[in-house]
Amino acid sequence: MREILHVQGGQCGNQIGSKFWEVICDEHGVDPTGKYSGDGSSDIQLERIDVYYNEASGGRYVPRAVLMDLEPGTMDSIRSGPIGQIFRPDNFVFGQSGAGNNWAKGHYTEGAELIDAVLDVVRKEAENCDCLQGFQVCHSLGGGTGSGMGTLLISKIREEYPDRMMMTFSVFPSPKVSDTVVEPYNATLSVHQLVENADECMVLDNEALYDICFRTLKLTTPSFGDLNHLISATMSGVTCCLRFPGQLNSDLRKLAVNLIPFPRLHFFMVGFAPLTSRGSQQYVSLTVPELTQQMWDAKNMMCAADPRHGRYLTASAMFRGKMSTKEVDEQMMNVQNKNSSYFVEWIPNNVKSSVCDIPPRGLKMSSTFIGNSTSIQEMFRRVSEQFTAMFRRKAFLHWYTGEGMDEMEFTEAESNMNDLVAEYQQYQDATVEDEEEYEGEEGLDENYET
Ligand code: GDP
Repeated sequence: MREILHVQGGQCGNQIGSKFWEVICDEHGVDPTGKYSGDGSSDIQLERIDVYYNEASGGRYVPRAVLMDLEPGTMDSIRSGPIGQIFRPDNFVFGQSGAGNNWAKGHYTEGAELIDAVLDVVRKEAENCDCLQGFQVCHSLGGGTGSGMGTLLISKIREEYPDRMMMTFSVFPSPKVSDTVVEPYNATLSVHQLVENADECMVLDNEALYDICFRTLKLTTPSFGDLNHLISATMSGVTCCLRFPGQLNSDLRKLAVNLIPFPRLHFFMVGFAPLTSRGSQQYVSLTVPELTQQMWDAKNMMCAADPRHGRYLTASAMFRGKMSTKEVDEQMMNVQNKNSSYFVEWIPNNVKSSVCDIPPRGLKMSSTFIGNSTSIQEMFRRVSEQFTAMFRRKAFLHWYTGEGMDEMEFTEAESNMNDLVAEYQQYQDATVEDEEEYEGEEGLDENYET
């Protein structure tokens, strides 16, 4: 057994986290009371159920999930929502103060007061595991709790479980969907933490999610519910290899080994096909070539960056449904052959694919894409520009220094993110430099010959 412990924090984290559980409960045939009421394919549904669920007495399956927040509202709605009763009541940990969209409150003051209560629950769950493989954290980076307290928790977990994997589903802020102006501050301070303390981050960028809803799905005023529908489909796809029997990326470490050539570059673009809005699934049916084509398309990426502006270091694709593995392999090879300049040639075989028999609810087939693309720097640059515009004038800084933060931490976070952008650029250009060096060497050879 290789268990994963799930933690969701803050408003966004709790909302996307609960949707994730709704979707995977359905896929594994677990009803809202925790009973198995599957469709008869129990072998596949239950074979790896222990990765995400504990088995309680009476044959009930209980999510290995911890829910935290600095205010009670979101968790109250989860408790009274469609699967509210499935969670372990002791695993709801919440305060009353709120974080006021202030990273410092989540990380240093209000959140720091509540963190030990959360760690107690985490420890209890971890002790119950046979062989914990790692953690997954759902949070937004633009607010105060998921962002500040979420990254505090991640650093505490890293301290206590240094050899376990840490995966995050991190929602990046966009002015198109934004609550407050200080979100670039909160996001940059969080990225600073995630670079150091997380192993793999699935980037969910509200800017891209909004654009998909608006442009592709033709929703004129997308709500969080619409955005979260895309997120839960993607989360289900990304975790499919971890939850169902199969070979490729079957645990968090294997996923990391395949995708991360350099430890800091662990921020992934994720894509999904076919894109559907809530309730419209049943109308969509695609072939393997169509799925493949869409999956690689910039319009299907949950991150506002265009892969054609960069190069892929690595990528993985998970196809779901009944289809021919041979056709999948052929289509994937086809994409790589026709677009070879978009893949770094110094990592041979850097694209992997797999097929899982069970499609998501409402679709015959789907595919999920995880790419480590140097073009993701476009998103970091966007946040960085917004950060710098305010920080140059020290706007809103008093909210943070008022909680005891030093301006220095802002400066460090800013340069860490700029360094990250530079590192992506360096590997994007790696070929060109190699060629220049190579030409230089040729010159040298000629000299030797004379
Ligand atoms: P917290 O409760 O202090 O962690 O703050 P929030 O989670 O509300 O963080 C605010 C950021 O999260 C903003 O960028 C919001 O646009 C975003 N956000 C809040 N709720 C949701 C949600 O349900 N879905 C998505 N995609 N983004 C959300």
